[in-house]
Amino acid sequence: LSDRLSGILDKLTRRGALTESDVNEAMREVRRALLEADVALDVVRDFIEKVKAKAIGQEVLRSVTPGQMVIKIVNDELVAMLGSDTSTIDLNATPPVAIMMVGLQGSGKTTTTAKIARRLTERDRKKVLMASLDVRRPAAQEQLRVLGEQTGVATLPIVAGQNPQQIARRALEAAKLGGYDVVILDTAGRIHIDEELMQESVEVRDIAHPHETLLVADSLTGQDAVNVAKSFDERIGITGIVLTRADGDARGGAALSMRAVTGKPIKLLGVGERWDQLEDFHPDRVASRILGMGDVVSLVEKAAQTIDAEKATKIAEKMKKGIFDLDDMAEQIKQMQRIGGMSGVLGMMPGMGKIKSQVAEANLDDSILKRQHAIITSMTPKERRNPKLLDAKRKRRIAAGSGTKVEDVNKLVKMHRQMADMMKSLGRNKGMLNRLVGGG
Ligand code: GDP
Ligand code: MG
Repeated sequence: LSDRLSGILDKLTRRGALTESDVNEAMREVRRALLEADVALDVVRDFIEKVKAKAIGQEVLRSVTPGQMVIKIVNDELVAMLGSDTSTIDLNATPPVAIMMVGLQGSGKTTTTAKIARRLTERDRKKVLMASLDVRRPAAQEQLRVLGEQTGVATLPIVAGQNPQQIARRALEAAKLGGYDVVILDTAGRIHIDEELMQESVEVRDIAHPHETLLVADSLTGQDAVNVAKSFDERIGITGIVLTRADGDARGGAALSMRAVTGKPIKLLGVGERWDQLEDFHPDRVASRILGMGDVVSLVEKAAQTIDAEKATKIAEKMKKGIFDLDDMAEQIKQMQRIGGMSGVLGMMPGMGKIKSQVAEANLDDSILKRQHAIITSMTPKERRNPKLLDAKRKRRIAAGSGTKVEDVNKLVKMHRQMADMMKSLGRNKGMLNRLVGGG
């Protein structure tokens, strides 16, 4: 029965790959969605080219259409491009750590200064000083002082007649003397990128040596986003981006544009006018908003989970019989890459703590998994089924074929043997096996 079962599973999972015309067709929709979300034209073009190349040839999961499959691939790539994990404000420097806020006028710098100050005070227990360097707008310094009062965060006393450079020096001095952990410099905005104000920001930067320079930008910034982000990054050098007005109607195209053109992480989102309306940036949520095809994505995710469960069952069947060949190992490696490496997988298994630490010692990171996968794919099907065939000559051929050394091939064979032994002993312990593959 189990042989027939695995035959059926084989047929179900090997259903063919995405063709160029599948991909092109779906990409027309993707392109429209990205442009509607106001992603900059150049960014859309580059993105589509990149994803196209990735998508063609990928296997289509059972129970989804090729078009749906492409959308899922696009979504994953969007998430990866937006930043795979949340990055927060980096305070890892000798205090007082200076944070400099830059951006166009009205983008939300002053509001965001207060939001960040409040968060660092409240959540991270930091002693924070805020200083307004905005001597252009008459009430700007007063605006920050009031926000300081409302949030209970200290502000640098206002001294009439000083220029931004002088205020920056005074702020740093005050932060040092007052034992502050963090000093946030809220700079003057500009309506357009203008050379005089850029120069001023550069001078302030050279006085303050900010550890973080955050570009504050409105989510509604459309095609101009690329220009704004590029200019600020080239002239001043930003370390991250804060997108404000994420509570509005914008679909988030600016996030992708700015990230693509600067490569700098989006660190926070402003989601309202109140000082507590600040959120961490979640790439998956923003990707889903940009693409606007969340239903399709979750459909394909569900299909992928089903396949994973089927594969796990198949491997479990073989494990029970004490069979674990190199094809199975390749499959395992592929899955591991998806769920965060070997130690991630072992960490999820009960009673695997010891092996997990051994694996961590062996430093099995992503690049090693990739290399191992290359080695296995350079073997003939026969060799994969029966690793005992691997003599010195075959190993040399495999090493050459996978761009590795014989030493690497040996390591892999050894690891396979260890895993096969482990599988065998697990196979004897049925209760544990069922727990591992979710059968109980
Ligand atoms: P600055 O010129 O860059 O300092 O901008 P401000 O901080 O003075 O903000 C300009 C306007 O945008 C103010 O009315 C803020 O209340 C508003 N604002 C700032 N951030 C957000 C946000 O995340 N959501 C919404 N809805 N409004 C915001
Ligand atoms: Mg301001």
